[in-house]
Amino acid sequence: MKPLRRTAAQTADTLAELVCSNSFRSDNPLNAIGLLHEELRALDSLIFRLADQHRVPAGDALAVDRELFSAAVEQHIRQHPRIEVVAGEVTELALDRPITTVVATGPLTSDALAAQLVTLTGQERLAFYDAIAPIVSAESVDMQQVFAASRWGKGGGDDYLNCPMDKAQYTAFVEAIVTAESLPLQDFEKGIRYFPGCQPIEVIAASGPKSLRFGPMKPTGLDDPRTGRWAYAVVQLRAENRHRTAFNLVGFQTKMRQAEQRRVLGMIPGLQEAEFLRYGSVHRNTFLDSPRLLDATMRLHTQPKLRFAGQITGVEGYVESTASGWWVAVALAAQLRDLPVEPPPASTALGALMLHVIDASVPDFQPSNLHFGLFAPLDEPQGDGPAKRRDKGQRKQAHADRARLDLAQWRARFASALACG
Ligand SMILES: Cc1cc2nc3c(=O)[nH]c(=O)nc-3n(C[C@H](O)[C@H](O)[C@H](O)COP(=O)(O)OP(=O)(O)OC[C@H]3O[C@@H](n4cnc5c(N)ncnc54)[C@H](O)[C@@H]3O)c2cc1C
Repeated sequence: MKPLRRTAAQTADTLAELVCSNSFRSDNPLNAIGLLHEELRALDSLIFRLADQHRVPAGDALAVDRELFSAAVEQHIRQHPRIEVVAGEVTELALDRPITTVVATGPLTSDALAAQLVTLTGQERLAFYDAIAPIVSAESVDMQQVFAASRWGKGGGDDYLNCPMDKAQYTAFVEAIVTAESLPLQDFEKGIRYFPGCQPIEVIAASGPKSLRFGPMKPTGLDDPRTGRWAYAVVQLRAENRHRTAFNLVGFQTKMRQAEQRRVLGMIPGLQEAEFLRYGSVHRNTFLDSPRLLDATMRLHTQPKLRFAGQITGVEGYVESTASGWWVAVALAAQLRDLPVEPPPASTALGALMLHVIDASVPDFQPSNLHFGLFAPLDEPQGDGPAKRRDKGQRKQAHADRARLDLAQWRARFASALACG
């Protein structure tokens, strides 16, 4: 839309504007996002080539001079012989033309287009803000303190892990939540009316001392096998993926600062040593219920000429959106040449991220940054003698080693399609 119209987050008119931080986060491949950096470089991402050229010192993070970086992207796009840049707000997608359209309008997609997307996908399949609950790694949960059970034994009887609290623990926990420091709302986020069930926990806790106990911490129907009774209050953990390597804290979307989340949520029995793979957040964000709408190449099932890329598909952050754009472009290039498309394996950073977007096994889809909890689980370590569990550092190394191997093999198999990009 720029320069005719800006979103509330934009202050410049060039392309690829970094609207907030100038950091692409950790560049260390033992970090999930750093591993994605490495893969995008290996796949010759233009964004990463230019980011590296305009890098500024930032420890082990990749940070860029935002103006030089944005100007460089702008120059590349405008000089490309087969790209025409047309400024303007798209208020309606033309669906009757035999061309493919990629919609990449981001978290602040304009209202008119969002209205058409609602018509195309259904009201309940397009969200206007995300309400993200924190995710912890399965290994870091103290299983001695939690119990597996579903409410009233429904569904798979042990679908949830439950962290029970007594009255004293609950009272101290509520007090810690209401006094914790939260992130301020952006101007354009003020006035958000939360849907019931999506309120931040601090908003629920502030509405009354028992509110959480009658809300996300409801203990009813959850028999603790060690006592045979219901606890005073319960925090439920639900598997985040089919491999049960990561769990989200059900209903615990929050705007508490990250250090406060570690401190306050560390009071929950079983989570004292929790490793946070993703922190909770609540912000303005337009995104699709992609697992129910899109195929692996990000085509809309009901309108295959329409594809989506970037944050609107449910990835989150500059780097993840870059990765999404790369994949959609390459898959589209392959399909336009009638080449077979093979999605990247879930053992790679790119594959794990793209699978998250279409993983229909997760009922309540929420956008996500990349973290190791989205990767396919590691095999148990092999060797003589009793099997040893890997520590955190060893797990990260094992992820990086496997991802490198699998990305190289996938690239070799998919090389014809990549070359056509
Ligand atoms: C306030 C804020 C702060 C953020 N801070 C960070 C951060 O610090 N680090 C980080 O990694 N990520 C951050 N993000 C997320 C990051 O901005 C996104 O992940 C990323 O920009 C998404 O890329 P995208 O290409 O999908 O969408 P965008 O970068 O949003 O690009 C979409 C473009 O489409 C345009 N557009 C919208 N509607 C229409 C229309 N109808 N017609 C034509 N054009 C349209 C928009 O103007 C925009 O220029 C932040 C987001 C917001 C809103």
